[in-house]
Amino acid sequence: MSNKKIILILLLLVLLPALVYTVYEASALQENKNVLAEIYDQKLNSVLFSVNQYYWDKAARVRSDFTILAREKGLNQPQVLDDFVNSTSGLSALAVTDTLLTRVPVFSRKSPVDDLDVDTLMQNLRKRQTAILRMLYRERIGYAKAESFVLPGKGEQEYLVLLSGLELGPKQHMLMVLIFDLPRFADETLKERISEFSELDIVLGLFAYDRPMPIVSTGDITLKSARTLKKLWLFPEHRIGIRVQADNDLEDLINGRFRRSLWLIFFLDLVLLLGAWILYRGIRKEVQLARMKSDFVSNVSHELRTPLALIRMFSETLEMGRVPDEEKKQQYYRMINQETIRLTHLINNILDFSKMEAERKQFIFVPLQVNQVIEQCLEFYRFHLEQNGFTLQTRLAKNLPPISADVDALTEMLINLLENSVKFSGEVKEVTISSGIREGQVFIEVADRGPGIATREQHLIFEKFYRGTDGLVHNTKGSGLGLTLVKYAMQAHGGRVQVESTPGAGSLFRLLFPVINNQSTEGISHA
Ligand code: ADP
Repeated sequence: MSNKKIILILLLLVLLPALVYTVYEASALQENKNVLAEIYDQKLNSVLFSVNQYYWDKAARVRSDFTILAREKGLNQPQVLDDFVNSTSGLSALAVTDTLLTRVPVFSRKSPVDDLDVDTLMQNLRKRQTAILRMLYRERIGYAKAESFVLPGKGEQEYLVLLSGLELGPKQHMLMVLIFDLPRFADETLKERISEFSELDIVLGLFAYDRPMPIVSTGDITLKSARTLKKLWLFPEHRIGIRVQADNDLEDLINGRFRRSLWLIFFLDLVLLLGAWILYRGIRKEVQLARMKSDFVSNVSHELRTPLALIRMFSETLEMGRVPDEEKKQQYYRMINQETIRLTHLINNILDFSKMEAERKQFIFVPLQVNQVIEQCLEFYRFHLEQNGFTLQTRLAKNLPPISADVDALTEMLINLLENSVKFSGEVKEVTISSGIREGQVFIEVADRGPGIATREQHLIFEKFYRGTDGLVHNTKGSGLGLTLVKYAMQAHGGRVQVESTPGAGSLFRLLFPVINNQSTEGISHA
C-alpha cells in the first residue's frame, strides 16, 4: 500500500469524522448558548413577574384592610383613618368620596398632604371620571384592574394615587383613594422581595417613565444596563428592571462556557490528530516490513538456488568421470566446498535471526584475544577475498587486553562485515581490518573503499530485512539480516557497533567490546 493511500484512508477514517464532529459541536455550542440565554431570560422574567405580583398583592391588602376597617368603624372618626395611614408603610394619605365625585372627600387627618389640597385632588379625579366609572363597573363584575395616576407634589415629590371601589353596604358604593409616597412604598416592597432571590445575584430597580436612573433599586442599575424591563401592573407608567451583577455578567458567563467547550473540542482534535499520526507511522512501518519480508523471501530463495545449482553441476560432472585432469578435479572440489560454506553461512544467519527474534540465541562467552579470532577468520577468508580481486590489509594492535566473547558469534560478525565489503565495493577493491583500543574499549574495524552509505540510511541499515536503496545494492543479493545480527550480537556482548561512511569514499564498521575487569589499556600499539 502506498503512503498516499494510507494518508487518504486515515483522512477518511479519522480526520473527516473529526472535522464533521467539530463543526457539529461548534454549531451545537452556539445553539446551547442561545438556549442558555433564553432560559436565563425566562428566569429573570419570572423574577419580575413575582415582584410585580408582590406589589399588586400589597396594594390589594391595603385596600381590603381599609374596606374591613371602614365597614366596622364607619368613616366619621378621623382618628381611625389617621391610625390606618400611619400603620401602613408607604401610605401618605387616604380619601373617600362618592362614586360620582360630587361630595368633598373624607380625608385622613394628615391630609390634604402638605402640598396637596382637596380641590386639586378632585380636579384630577374628575378628569378621569369615565375611566373611574369603567373601573368600578369592572370591579363589580369581578375583574380587577388598577386605575392609578401620578400627582406631582412640591419640588421633586410625586404621589401615586391608586383608586378602587369601596363597598360599605348593599347600596353604599364609594370611591377609595389611596395616596402613596411611591419611593418609600416601592423601596420597602422591593427590598422585602429581593431577599428571596439572594442566590441569583441580581439587581432590581424601579424606573419612572423613561428616566434613566431608578427611583429605587437594590444595587447598581440604570435603564440601559437593565437586561429586561417590565411594566409595573400597579402603576403601568412605571417599570421594573432587572440585571445580573457586573462581575457575574450573563454574557461573560455564557461566553466563558462557550470558550471552554471550544478549547476542549480543539484539544480533542489535537489528540485525534496525534493518534492518526501515530497510527500512520505504525501502518507505514508495518507496510514497509511486509514489503521487506517479501523481498527477503525472494532474495533468500535466489541465494539458495545459485550455490545449489553450482554444487550440483560440479558434483555431476565429477560423478560422470568427465574430469580426467587431477588439478581440475581439485578445483571443482574447492568450488563445491566454498559454495557449501556460503550456504552454511546463509543458513546460519537465518537460523541465528530466528533464534534472536525468539530470544533463544545462546552465547558461550570465553576470554579471548580479538587478534586471534581475526587471524583465524582471515585464514579461510583471505583466499575468498583475493579470488575476488581484493587486497587485504591488517592493522592489528599488539598486547590488547582480552575480551569476553563467543568465538562463533564473533567469526560470524566478521564474515558478515567482510561479505558486505566484498558485495558492495565497486572499482576500488580494498579491505582493511584493524584492531585496537578506543575510549577504553577494544575495537575491531572493517573498512572498505566502496560506494559508502547515504547519511539518511545509516541508522536504517541495522533494521531487520532492510536493504539499501542504492542501484548497486539492488544488483547484489542479500537477506537484509547481516547487520541486524551484528547489532544484536554486539548488544549480547555488552558492546555496540558503529558505522562511519562518506558516500563515494567507503564505509567503516566498528565493533566495540568492553574490556574484562579493569584490564590496563596502557602499552598498546598498532602493528
Ligand atoms: P544485505 O547485505 O543482505 O543487504 P545487511 O544487513 O548486511 O544486508 O546490510 C544492509 C544494507 O546496508 C545493505 O543492503 C547495504 O545497503 C548497506 N551496507 C552494508 N554494508 C555496506 C558496505 N560495506 N558498503 C555499502 N553499503 C553497505
